[in-house]
Amino acid sequence: MIAFYEAAQVKNQETYLTDCLRSGNLAGDGPMAQAVLALLREKLGVQNALLTPSASHALELCFWHLAPGDEVVLPAYNFPAAASAVLRAGGKPVLCDIDPNTQNASPADILNRVTARTRAVCLTHYAGIACDMDALLPLRESGVALVEDAAQGVGAFYRSQALGTVGDFGCYSFHATKNVACGEGGAYLQRENNALFDRAVQIRDKGTNRRDFLAGTVSRYQWERVGSSLLMPELCAAVLRAQLEALEEITTRRLRVAGWYDERLESAFERGRLLPMGITPGARGNGHIYYVKFESAAARERAQAGLGAAGIPALTHFVPLHLGAMGRELGYRPGDFPESERTFETLLRLPIHTGLTEDQADFICRTLEALL
Ligand SMILES: *Cc1c(COP(=O)(O)O)cnc(C)c1O
Repeated sequence: MIAFYEAAQVKNQETYLTDCLRSGNLAGDGPMAQAVLALLREKLGVQNALLTPSASHALELCFWHLAPGDEVVLPAYNFPAAASAVLRAGGKPVLCDIDPNTQNASPADILNRVTARTRAVCLTHYAGIACDMDALLPLRESGVALVEDAAQGVGAFYRSQALGTVGDFGCYSFHATKNVACGEGGAYLQRENNALFDRAVQIRDKGTNRRDFLAGTVSRYQWERVGSSLLMPELCAAVLRAQLEALEEITTRRLRVAGWYDERLESAFERGRLLPMGITPGARGNGHIYYVKFESAAARERAQAGLGAAGIPALTHFVPLHLGAMGRELGYRPGDFPESERTFETLLRLPIHTGLTEDQADFICRTLEALL
C-alpha cells in the first residue's frame, strides 16, 4: 500500500523531545523555539517570525487589525483559513479567480477586484509554487499590503527570496501533511521589524507586554491590548527543530519524486491527455504537491478510481470557497469563478513524500498511463 502523506523520518527528533521533557521548559518561546527561529533565519533568511499553533492562527495575527469594511482580495481556489481570519476581524473577503496554469490567484483578476477599500491581497502559493510576485509587488505602492499564505511553501523560493518573506506579511504551516511537520504548528512572518511586529508579539502573548518584562525594559507585566494565546508548545518546537535541520534533504527528496513523475508522464503531457503543473518564472518549488490536470471531470474520476483500485491513493483538492455554505452567504454563486471550478473538477494529486521510491513512482505512472 502506498501512502499519500508520510512524515519525513529525520535524525534528532527523539533526542530533542527527550531534552525538552527533561529540561522542564514546556511552555512556548523556550530554547527549542529559539533554535527553530535561528534555523529559519539561517536557512531561509526569515528575520521576523513568531511560532504559532498553526498557519491558521498566524493568518489571524495577519488580519487582527482590519477595520470593518476593509476588503481583502484572495483566490476562490483556496484553503478557508485566510478567508475566515478576514471575517473574524470584521473585514470582507473578496474572491478572485486563478490562473489555470499554476492554480495561483490570477494577477489580472486581482487587479480587477481592487477598490479604494482594499487593504490587502492574500496570496496562496499553491503546491509551493510562487505566485507571480513581480506582477503584484507594485500594489504595495498604492497602500495595499501583500500577505503570503505560504502554508505549503516552506523551503520554496521566488527568485532568491524564501516564500513568505517577499510580501509584507506571511505564514508557514508545519501541519502533519506539510513538508516540514510537527503535528500542528505554524509561523507568522513579517518582512519589516516595525511597530506592527511589536503589536503582533503582544497579541500573541495574551495582549501583554510579557516580552518587554522578561527583557527587563519594563517593570510590570501587564495587559496592553486585546490578545490571545498563539504560541507553539515547546514539545512541538522540539520536533520542528529536528525537521527543519533536515529541510534541504526533505526538499531534495520530494523534488526527486516530482522529477520521476515528470519524466514518466512526459509522453502523456505531450499527447495532451494530461496537463502538467505550471511553473511561474522565477519560482523554485519544494515538491509539496505533485498534481496533474485532466481534460474533463469524467476523465479525472476514471483515473482516481482506477488508481484507487490499484492501491494508489490520489486526491482531489480544495472545493472553491464560493461553492460552500460560506461562499453563498457572501453572495457568490456557482459559475462566478470558472477556472477555480475547473481546477476543482479536473486536478488530481499523486502521492509525494520523502519515503516514496522510484519503483513506486514507476508503478503509479504506468497505472495512470493505462487509464488515459
Ligand atoms: C495547510 C494550509 C493552511 C492551514 O494550515 P494549518 O497549519 O493547518 O492551520 C492554510 N493555507 C493553506 C494554503 C494550506 O495549505
